[in-house]
Amino acid sequence: MKIAVVGTGYVGLVTGTCFAETGNQVTCVDIDVNKVTRLQKGDIPIYEPGLEVLFDRNIAEGRLTFTTDLKEGIKGAEVIFLALPTPPGEDGSADLKYILGVANDLGPILENYAVIIDKSTVPVGTAEKVSAAIRLNATVDFDVVSNPEFLREGVAVEDFMKPDRVVVGTTSEKAKKVMEKLYAPLVRQGNPVIFMDERSAEMTKYAANSFLALKITFMNEIANLCEKVGANVDDIRRGIGTDSRIGKRFLFAGIGYGGSCFPKDVQALAKTSDDYGYDFRTLKSVMAVNDDQKKRLLPLITEYFDGDLKGKTIAVWGLAFKPYTDDIREAPALENIKALLAAGANVTVYDPEAMDNVKGLLPDLTYCHTAYAALDDADALMIFTEWPQFRTPDFDKMAKLMKEKVIFDGRNLYELEVMRENQFTYYSIGRESVD
Ligand code: NAD
Repeated sequence: MKIAVVGTGYVGLVTGTCFAETGNQVTCVDIDVNKVTRLQKGDIPIYEPGLEVLFDRNIAEGRLTFTTDLKEGIKGAEVIFLALPTPPGEDGSADLKYILGVANDLGPILENYAVIIDKSTVPVGTAEKVSAAIRLNATVDFDVVSNPEFLREGVAVEDFMKPDRVVVGTTSEKAKKVMEKLYAPLVRQGNPVIFMDERSAEMTKYAANSFLALKITFMNEIANLCEKVGANVDDIRRGIGTDSRIGKRFLFAGIGYGGSCFPKDVQALAKTSDDYGYDFRTLKSVMAVNDDQKKRLLPLITEYFDGDLKGKTIAVWGLAFKPYTDDIREAPALENIKALLAAGANVTVYDPEAMDNVKGLLPDLTYCHTAYAALDDADALMIFTEWPQFRTPDFDKMAKLMKEKVIFDGRNLYELEVMRENQFTYYSIGRESVD
């Protein structure tokens, strides 16, 4: 099949590369000239494990190309993916200007029947809006399908190539056949392609992300209560996660969720609820609790230094919103670092992948080449991302480098016993502190 992917970010680039890998002819389109130039030179602008091998192979074999020209990119395409940003607008709703802008542009340049696929996360009713915008100027037949994406950054290629399920919202039989053919190579093991109407598909994506955000947030509140009653949230996690009705995943307590999806999608679903006159109380609590959770360590570190962080050097391990990505959108680390700077602290940081993305936003930090370099003369360490390399550090080396042996761990990386043995003062989430 000939496929066009409009928007070549985390989702678009993975979508384009993976569909090239299954033998399709793919053209990725983006308005960002620098990005397209880099891609044309064979340089991947994001960090996503496993992507490079597929990217290189499909470029070399001529199945994957890049352009800034929408008309050229969609020429002859049977399938056109829209993998465009849907950032939150001022009122919390998903801003559809990118999607509808491209939809408007598509109308006059469509030359043949095509299935236009909303891959972006978009509110209920968007497929109808996209369809109407294209129809204004279209001279050929087309269908607009909702096909939300469930990949996780960090394991995006694996998620895309072996999806748990594919959700397709369409009421067109013709589009359904195209979608079946497109996804057949990815669901050979029998994972389902679930067909439904467009509105239900759009809603499915928000329900999935909001449910996961709710699960994390519920566990964070259990953690907060654990601290008060003297229980250990890690034991609670093991105790309930083994119940198959609950499941083991998304039960790790920490300093809140971030990233480019959960915060904006929870907010957008709450806005949709308001628009339809429904008071979605659990969602509103999720947002409020998560906002507080992100700042959970700040009062502890402030109190530890008797209310005065001025002139203290705070080392930070982890900037990305989660490991295996360079994505810093809504990362809890950033909010915490800004608060440390506002309190007069000096901040030294290390992240294996995300530092380049932070440098433009926070130029006043000291960026270090290794995790240990960030500890040099530090008064304390704060941990915000659970990169595996932080899990088993050399505590003796850390003790020698740091001015004070104190860690504020937002990701519960270390056993309390290990901290006691190594004589660190240790604060984490949902567990007793170690003095
Ligand atoms: P992104 O910001 O990484 O990429 C979007 C790309 O679109 C950018 O490269 C931008 O330059 C390009 N773009 C903007 N306007 C354009 C235009 N008019 N023509 C062509 N290109 C244009 O975004 P993303 O993380 O890939 O997310 C895209 C959508 O997918 C969002 O709706 C998001 O919610 C959803 N989603 C994201 C993830 C994820 O993990 N990142 C997972 C599932 C769904």
